Amino acid sequence: MIRLESYVSGRWTSGAGRATTLVNPATEEAIAETSSEGLDFGAALDHARTAGASLRSLSFAERASLLKAMAKTLHANREELLDLAQKNGGNTRGDAKFDVDGAIGTLSAYAVTGEQLAARMGDRRFLLDGDFIQLARNPRFVGQHVYTTRPGVAVHINAFNFPAWGTYEKIAVSFLAGVPVITKPATATALVTWRTVQLLVESGSLPEGALQLICGSTGDLLSRLQPQDHLAFTGSNATGSALRGTPGFASKGVRVTVEADSLNAAVCGPDVEVGGDLWSTMLRNVVQDMTQKTGQKCTAVRRVFLPHSHVAEFEEALLDALTGVVVGDPTTDGVTMGPVSTASQLRDARSGIAALAEGNRVAVGGAQPIDGRNAPAGKGYYVRPTVIVGANDHTHDLEVFGPCVSLVAYDGSAAGAAAGIGRGQGSLVSSFYADDRAWIGEVVAGAAPWLGRMLVCGSKVADMATPPGMVLPSMVHGGPGRAGGGEELGGERGLLFYMQRTAVAGDRVALGKVFGTGE
Ligand code: NAP
Repeated sequence: MIRLESYVSGRWTSGAGRATTLVNPATEEAIAETSSEGLDFGAALDHARTAGASLRSLSFAERASLLKAMAKTLHANREELLDLAQKNGGNTRGDAKFDVDGAIGTLSAYAVTGEQLAARMGDRRFLLDGDFIQLARNPRFVGQHVYTTRPGVAVHINAFNFPAWGTYEKIAVSFLAGVPVITKPATATALVTWRTVQLLVESGSLPEGALQLICGSTGDLLSRLQPQDHLAFTGSNATGSALRGTPGFASKGVRVTVEADSLNAAVCGPDVEVGGDLWSTMLRNVVQDMTQKTGQKCTAVRRVFLPHSHVAEFEEALLDALTGVVVGDPTTDGVTMGPVSTASQLRDARSGIAALAEGNRVAVGGAQPIDGRNAPAGKGYYVRPTVIVGANDHTHDLEVFGPCVSLVAYDGSAAGAAAGIGRGQGSLVSSFYADDRAWIGEVVAGAAPWLGRMLVCGSKVADMATPPGMVLPSMVHGGPGRAGGGEELGGERGLLFYMQRTAVAGDRVALGKVFGTGE
């Protein structure tokens, strides 16, 4: 069995004590074990603060080269990583590519962002926010807002569902901002993350201290964070809320960003023609969100809002599209959807489906156990693709992290759609299918405050729009309310979490020299 070691203070180290076992969710076969017990987290932080500080002294161009080299290393080992993702995550080949290629793509995208920053800023390592502001009658006295890199450490804690992409979308941004990272994957699916860090360490491209890995628990790490440090967390709202309350965080002002759970929605506008292009795009996106990664995407649609007149036909089309889904061991032929990733996810998905079904009609699927195709009988964490028609209080309040959607009728008005979105109490993303511009204007105004991202899909872009479940490095990712209130990515915007904005007032000529604004 593989023993996953942590990479701390420049060494691979195995924790003591009882290890946690990682399994193949398709068969429940044990494949690896890990423990972080006894690791010296104080020393890990010191190492990041001292050795890792060299990252800050690199120019944007040098940081961009680093990200490019990292992407190259992962790409050179892509096949091995895809195999590991299938084995430890229950991923189909396509799911594994979505995760691993997402990591490589985001590192590459941030390498380009770094090159653009270098072209604009030269060797300067800060960012400017706006222009000089005249502060006195004499134009010589001015103010300038500037972002500088905070001399701290970034602790990244990630969810189980994206061990590659989730890890490197955070690292890409942190590294480009010049901040060293201690990253912790979810233990159950840590195999891919562990291997990527091994590959990067072996490649020799990482500056000393820039990246450390914890496989297992974070012990007393978080309570040791200081005012210039950061916690970027992705996972459940419950864990995120608990970590915000870490002793010392509030008093020291440790920066925290939380990406948590979300009741994303797809909304069918009243002008969508049944069977037309928009209808087909919406249907395709809903099916993809239900089945890709077995519905275990934070951005996956959970609620589908349809005008009363469209519900029956959408249900029929969706059930028809789902008949081709084959649930089973995703490493075997003919299987199109794998298991959920862990035993506890299976328990939660089943009980969640049962809760959503209370008082509603289960059109297909349900909470009953099933065997997966080509999997040992009674083994593996399999869930049926499930469509529930109707809503109850759980529909808007309980995120079932699996292949399940609820079809919810609404009155077709923009106000009704926005109210439905708002009942989710804040989500990462929702998609709106319509051509009627007045309806779109009203729905954007009403729903946007509840959402981190919106896909407004009209007929003119139906064949080119990226699916709503796909997170893009150039667009912000995060959402208000129950989604955690955090923001990541968004090109340069993502760097600001790791930087301090300071209002600097002084002599226009002197500040012009410092900031390179040519004054
Ligand atoms: P989770 O149980 O909250 O765990 C998330 C991470 O937190 C894991 O790495 C876990 O480590 C760690 N953790 C748990 N307790 C901790 C503690 N006391 N101190 C330090 N770390 C701790 O969530 P999950 O089951 O992995 O992921 C599913 C949830 O994540 C879903 O609700 C989903 O919506 C959300 N999610 C959100 C996004 C987003 O971008 N918004 C993306 C993906 C997933 P262990 O594994 O070692 O317990």
